[in-house]
Amino acid sequence: MHQDISSASAVSLAPDGIVLAIETSCDETSAAVLRGAEVASNVISSQLEHSRYGGVVPELASRAHLSVISTVVREALSEAGIGIADVDAVAVTSHPGLVGSLIVGANFAKGLALRYSLPLVAVNHIEGHIYSAFLNAEQPEFPFLALVVSGGHTALFRVFSFRRAEVLGSTRDDAAGEAFDKTAKMLGLGYPGGIAIDRLAAGGRADAIAFPRAMMRDDNFDFSFSGLKTAVRTYLQREHPGGVADASLPDICASLQEAIADVLVRKTLRAADRYGLRDIVIAGGVSANSRLRSLFAEQARRAGRRVLIPAIEFCTDNAAMIGLIGRQKLLGGSADDLQFTVHSRPLRAERRKPGSFRDIPAFAAKEADSASSDGGS
Ligand code: ADP
Ligand code: MG
Repeated sequence: MHQDISSASAVSLAPDGIVLAIETSCDETSAAVLRGAEVASNVISSQLEHSRYGGVVPELASRAHLSVISTVVREALSEAGIGIADVDAVAVTSHPGLVGSLIVGANFAKGLALRYSLPLVAVNHIEGHIYSAFLNAEQPEFPFLALVVSGGHTALFRVFSFRRAEVLGSTRDDAAGEAFDKTAKMLGLGYPGGIAIDRLAAGGRADAIAFPRAMMRDDNFDFSFSGLKTAVRTYLQREHPGGVADASLPDICASLQEAIADVLVRKTLRAADRYGLRDIVIAGGVSANSRLRSLFAEQARRAGRRVLIPAIEFCTDNAAMIGLIGRQKLLGGSADDLQFTVHSRPLRAERRKPGSFRDIPAFAAKEADSASSDGGS
């Protein structure tokens, strides 16, 4: 069947329509099926080939996506109990991420859209994380605060609606997950290192080593984690020049974890106070961290805030969150043409103007609903 590939068309998706979503921005190959707002399947295949390198190797990531993507999509359809003929639309991550990885998912999605004449929506990966809490039973209420904290991103957003969110701050260098992963690499704990540090920290003292808390005194909501990495390296060279004995690992891990959790929790609660936001959503792989969770639970309760952390399958990179955004856009009548391109630009490069997130087209209409949904600022 012929389809005009050059123009975005007006589309309509029924409220119970079926969306197939694909996510390949980094090292997870994921496909999900949404039947209406319900997640019918969410298959995630995590790449193990990077562990020996202490970080994601882009070329290996693209190859791994290529080798599993059709199996992952088939599994998502079969777990949902449907065939491709039942799908009403396709959503796929277009940015930000590793370009070679994004291309695999985007081209697969374009191929499906072309072959089966399906509307296609390109989705911003970070937008997926921001709204991922809507995939849970307990949902946030607009306006809310979202902390996206993963291996690639650390940023705070004030979220007014599905059409409008504002960046309050983001990391100026490394993401929090990178601080976990790079320290884990220095300690010989493999990749990804967050979970290994979390486990070892359970047996250590969080106040054993005073690692720095960067930008805590600054009156903004930006973060910086590269100094922490350097502080750990300096500490190791000074205190453990011959290598770290196993017995010292728990204290180092607990102290590092405390420094990261402390900054994230305090800055986030400060933003909630400043803007009068009750609900706080924490998304991204680092939200799995046990100390971050307990510190948030404790401090937020004291401050009268409600913390919502999506189930772990919706926290780490997953296609269900991409399907959720794709569905919202389709319900609003917009789809993309087959010529959209992928790109890698991280959030910090997108901040053309402080406080704006103009990169997301749906958010460009923010003035339209700002009057009705502004939270007390
Ligand atoms: P991305 O693929 O964009 O890096 P993900 O959302 O897939 O992000 O999350 C992966 C990141 O989450 C890694 O940096 C990993 O170390 C971190 N992570 C996972 N579990 C934990 C944990 N328990 N504690 C701290 N960090 C964690
Ligand atoms: Mg990942």
